[in-house]
Amino acid sequence: MGFFYYGSYNSPYIAVCSSGHGINTSGKRTPEIEGKSIKEFQFNQPTKLKLLSALKRCGIACCDANYESTTKAIDVSRNERIKRANSLIKNDNDKKRIIYIEIHYNAYNGKFDDKKGGLEIFCYKGSDKGKKLANCIIHYLKNGTKQVNRGVKEWDYDVIKYTLMPAALSENGFMDQLFEAKLMLNEDFQTEVAEEHCKGVCDYFGLVYIPPKKETNKLYKVQVGAFSKRENAKNLRDLLKKDGYPVYIVED
Ligand SMILES: [Zn+2]
Repeated sequence: MGFFYYGSYNSPYIAVCSSGHGINTSGKRTPEIEGKSIKEFQFNQPTKLKLLSALKRCGIACCDANYESTTKAIDVSRNERIKRANSLIKNDNDKKRIIYIEIHYNAYNGKFDDKKGGLEIFCYKGSDKGKKLANCIIHYLKNGTKQVNRGVKEWDYDVIKYTLMPAALSENGFMDQLFEAKLMLNEDFQTEVAEEHCKGVCDYFGLVYIPPKKETNKLYKVQVGAFSKRENAKNLRDLLKKDGYPVYIVED
């Protein structure tokens, strides 16, 4: 898998997604829970992949700014992620159809404290489009799993400052708040967060969000023959019956 997860530069809309940290990024983990820490990577990475497939389902071209982290234990630097995203911007119109999103998990001081917690989204200060994108996403995030809504905030993180397109960085919970730390590895939570980001992106671009297909109950049937004359079907049925098979005839 390369930079483009789905679509190409010529697609009408493109979302560049990043999970920020790699598996080896120092710090960036929960305090120990029953002797084990959860790395921020373990939430950011699968949630980004779920977001990419949701965007694809909705017909939005998407890129993975740190795609190597899926298969290799590589940390893609901030500058490299920014460079990759900016390589797509060739004219002013590109800034209208291309966006940048990073998925993160927050931390306070690395000690469990249940008084804090919550979700928030950052955009670059003064970026109207970045703010619009952040507002579109938080509109859905705040209505998901019950968490404190810390709102949209302006900041000057490199990845939202130096990317040339509207950009948003979401912090989807606190690693040092026990309830939210435990959510990190919950696949339903990851899916929910990814779909909420995708809904926000669809709203931002004015596109219709396409929900995931529900798993249908599949049936696997065994067939031994199909006949245009009922008589022939009856003959085969009788033969099989004689051998002890519970056979019946279905008309299509
Ligand atoms: Zn982070």
